[in-house]
Amino acid sequence: MTALRLFDTHCHLQDSAFDPDREEAYLRAQQAGIGLILAGWDQESSARGVAFAQQHRNCWAMVGLHPHDAKAWEAHWPEQLARWVRQPKVVAIGEIGLDFHYLHSPKAVQEEVFRAQLDLARQWDLPVSIHSREAEAETLAALDEFPGIRGVLHCFTGGPAFARALLDRGLFISFSGIVSFANAAEIRAAARMVPWDRLLIETDAPYLSPRPWRGQRNEPMRVVRVGEVVAEEKNVAPEEVFRHVVANTLQVFPLILTDAKNWQD
Ligand SMILES: [Zn+2]
Repeated sequence: MTALRLFDTHCHLQDSAFDPDREEAYLRAQQAGIGLILAGWDQESSARGVAFAQQHRNCWAMVGLHPHDAKAWEAHWPEQLARWVRQPKVVAIGEIGLDFHYLHSPKAVQEEVFRAQLDLARQWDLPVSIHSREAEAETLAALDEFPGIRGVLHCFTGGPAFARALLDRGLFISFSGIVSFANAAEIRAAARMVPWDRLLIETDAPYLSPRPWRGQRNEPMRVVRVGEVVAEEKNVAPEEVFRHVVANTLQVFPLILTDAKNWQD
């Protein structure tokens, strides 16, 4: 039904790192048959992601406040999110979550803002894209307060036990270029055990270029390389991974399908 071969299910093409060549990076992904989901991290990036998605085919957006920026949460945020999610091409709330590594926002604020956005997503029946760093137990505890929440743990950096706990709660698991790093044996072990119907991949561009480009600015077309690494771990051809990722992306972000004129050739 579609010309799309693969999705980059989480990237930040609206980031200033793409100011010199955003359209070219988008076109490189289009030529490779890759659909994009742009994740917001604050007010401006969410607005820019929505605008870009609305102006480009095979491109969708999610809106939300990242744990790094949680201290920017104010009373107007629920209203702002409500306005965005009524617009075309907005398919999820994200990225949201907990990051206890950098602590750019205090833990208690992150916990509160994460829950506020989980609550809104569930009210609106929208999936979430979750960032979790050094906060596995706290992430699971928050999820348990919102049974039935749908979504993805993006840029998975845990091991098989955390993956199992997320799968048990119904979440999808998305691997980034980190899965290719030399010191990522636990993440590769998780990639081997995640079942086909819960597996996603992403770039998180401009961050986290896979090998052999580690350290360079990442871009959406490199999601192909992430898929190749996952395929090696699962001992299948890359196209097999891509096929499942397309099906799973439509499963977890079903609003993509309501946007038929942007989806079908
Ligand atoms: Zn991200």
